[in-house]
Order: sequence, then C-alpha cells, then structure tokens
Amino acid sequence: VQVRRWCAELAWLGGETVAERVLLTADGDRLVNVTPGCDPPADAVRLPGLTIPGLVNAHSHAFHRALRGRTQAGAGDFWAWRERMYAVAERLHPDSYFALARATYAEMALAGITTVGEFHYLHHGPGGTPYDDANAMGAALAAAATEAGVRLTLLDACYLQADVDGRPLAGAQLRFGDGDADRWAERAAALPAPSPTFRVGAAVHSVRAVPAAQLGTVADWARQRGAPLHLHLSEQPAENAACLAATGRTPAALCAESGVLGRSTTAAHATHLTAGDVGLLGSSRTAACFCPTTERDLADGVGPAAALLAAGSPLCLGSDSHAVIDLLEEARAVELDQRLVSLRRGTHTAGGLLAAATAGGADALGWPGAGRLAAGAYADFAVVGLDSVRTAGCDVTDALATVVFAASAADITTVVMGGETTVSGGRHVRLDVGAVLAAALAPLRHDR
Ligand SMILES: [Zn+2]
Repeated sequence: VQVRRWCAELAWLGGETVAERVLLTADGDRLVNVTPGCDPPADAVRLPGLTIPGLVNAHSHAFHRALRGRTQAGAGDFWAWRERMYAVAERLHPDSYFALARATYAEMALAGITTVGEFHYLHHGPGGTPYDDANAMGAALAAAATEAGVRLTLLDACYLQADVDGRPLAGAQLRFGDGDADRWAERAAALPAPSPTFRVGAAVHSVRAVPAAQLGTVADWARQRGAPLHLHLSEQPAENAACLAATGRTPAALCAESGVLGRSTTAAHATHLTAGDVGLLGSSRTAACFCPTTERDLADGVGPAAALLAAGSPLCLGSDSHAVIDLLEEARAVELDQRLVSLRRGTHTAGGLLAAATAGGADALGWPGAGRLAAGAYADFAVVGLDSVRTAGCDVTDALATVVFAASAADITTVVMGGETTVSGGRHVRLDVGAVLAAALAPLRHDR
C-alpha cells in the first residue's frame, strides 16, 4: 500500500467555490486526507489548474463511437439513426467489441472520466446464437475498461422484444435477446465477479424491449443484489404513444407499477414526461440521466431537468452515443438547453452541474465512494488546465464557472483513478488513444 500526495493549485470540493492549495493524500486507492490551504510537502506532486473529482459518464454505449461523423450530417430521425447503429452492431464480435470499447474508454479517460456506466445489450453472436461463454461480450467490456484505466459498472440490459406491443426481435436485435427475463437473470448472474474497479448492474433496455409482466423480474434481480438498475425512459414521443396504446399507461407509470422506480434506479433521457411522470420519478427518488449531446444529435428534445430535480430526482450525465465525449459539454448543456426552452438563465448553478457530472453519476452507478474529493472517497480526480486558450485568464473567483461553461475535454491535463495516474500531460500513460481508435474503427467502416 502506497501513500501518495498531490497539491492542487485549486480544487473544487463541492458547492459554488473552489479552494486553494489543496493537499490530497491517498493511501492505496482511497483518499485519506483532503486539506485546503496547505504548504505543499516536498514529496507532493504539484497540480496546476483546477482539480475536480473524476468525471462520471453514467450512460455509455461504447460501440456507438463507431457512428461518430457518419450519422450526424443530413436528415433522418432517431429511428433512421437506429438502423445505422444496428448495422454496426451486426459486425461486432468479442475481439472487435473489446478493441472499440478499449479505445472509447481511453478517449473517456483523456476527457477526465474515471467511472463509466456501460449500458450493454449486444450480448450474443449473429442471429442470437450465444457464444461459448454467454458473457463473452460483457467480459470484453470489463477487460477494455481495465486496460483504459476507468472504473466500470456493466449495466447488463434485458432486451426481449422489438416493441411494446410484443413484436418479436428481428435482424440485429436478435443478438440482444435472452428469450425471457429469467434467462436474462441467469446469464447476468454469471457475469465477471466484482473488483475494486468493476461491478455489475442491471438494465431494462426500455418499456419497448421488456414485456410489462417481466419488468419486475429485472427489478427484483437488481434489488436482491443491491445493484443499480438503469433504463431508457421516454426518449422519443413515439415510445410514449406506443406504450399508452398497448398498456394505457405512460412508460413512467408502467415502471412505477412494476416496481422499477426507486433510489437505485436511473432513467436515461427522461425527455418527454407528463407532470405525473415527473412526480413518480421524483417521489421515488429515481435519478435522471441527461445525455444532452446525444439528445440534440438525435432530435430527441429537451427534458425537464429542473422540474425533476425539484421533485426529488438526482441528476447525472452521460455521453450515450458518443457524438462527442466531453462531460463538461454535457454539464453546461443541461443549463444552456433550459435557457433556450424556458427563456430564463441561471436554473442550474456551475456547482450543481459539476455535481451531476461527478457525485450524481457515481451514486447512480453504485460507487457512492467516487465522484467526490473527500477523505474516504476513491482517489479519482482530473485536472483542468487553466492556461489553455479556452481557460486562460481566470482566477480563484471564476475558475469554476470558466471550467463548467467554457473548458473542454481537451483541457484535461492529468487524470488519476484509484490513486494511479492514467493521464499525464494530456496523454494516456498506456495507450496512444488516436491510434487505437483508428485501428478499432477502420474495420467497421464498410457497413453497407
Ligand atoms: Zn442510451
């Protein structure tokens, strides 16, 4: 066990201010002391800039990284985008899934992300034939996260039907299906064992994909294990319309009735909600995971972040389809999108947005000891340089607002995960990230 010390020129310890000369002491993978106003000891590593807790990407589909630049331009709605996504899904196997996920997680590490929630549904081989190891694809993600140096919650998704009306899976979707929720549960129970940087959670892909009568099976599985439970909720109006037509309920109401909502549950998107839905999510303390760069890319809409927060739902953030990987961009988009639709400024504070990008995500992924700079928390942090063209000229009074509203992933200089340095001088310590991205993406380019 190794004691390490860093002295942060500035550090965000929560709230709306930053502290100066903060000594961070780690013993192994945990912080044992966080002391502002220190005289740095000689053995402390100096961290110029603003040190923040490691960012938490609470909603990722690693393989969607292959769609970047290939689906953004031009027209086509969410459902047309989904066809392109399925075309990529059809080409992946455990080795290429590993390579793509490792590269994508390494890109995340460079962006200051130390914890990822991978919403994983590409379970089986072509046509739905299981691999010899039925969890070969999930194991590939776990190995990829280890090599990239990110903490991972593998949110294994139950995906059983093509739509809420019970239509069977077809085409690429056959690879997602386990037959029924009991067989999903059996496979998920055999996923790799937890480690200090890996744990398993559950997911209901959406109310489209799991029959109402089987939602409770997934929810119970998660509850019995104390595991987080995630789902896509009301991302598109068509999902709400189909759910209402088939069940007479909104997706949120159906989930509430089925025992899916609660403190360990996170609803990704939560975009098109009724006032009643907001009440159900808030009163159950279900978290809401906003993914603004994906939601704007897919013309999903702007969800009611402020109303959810006021109702009792904690917020967290995800880069989802990885149209870009920049949690600072996701954080400011929550506020800036609200400004566009409400014609009001200042609904969310800089500190509140950064909390969603750190502790909010850590809580949602079952790592309550991450996402914070405090004694006892994981030694996971990222340093934002304050000398780039985007950030130069700020001081202790405006460093937090500058970072949240103007810095980018490219301004991350140093990243430490579990006490180990993963990014130094803006470079990943183990991987040439551009090269591994290019190598992973090249074989996936010809999907037509
Ligand atoms: Zn998603």
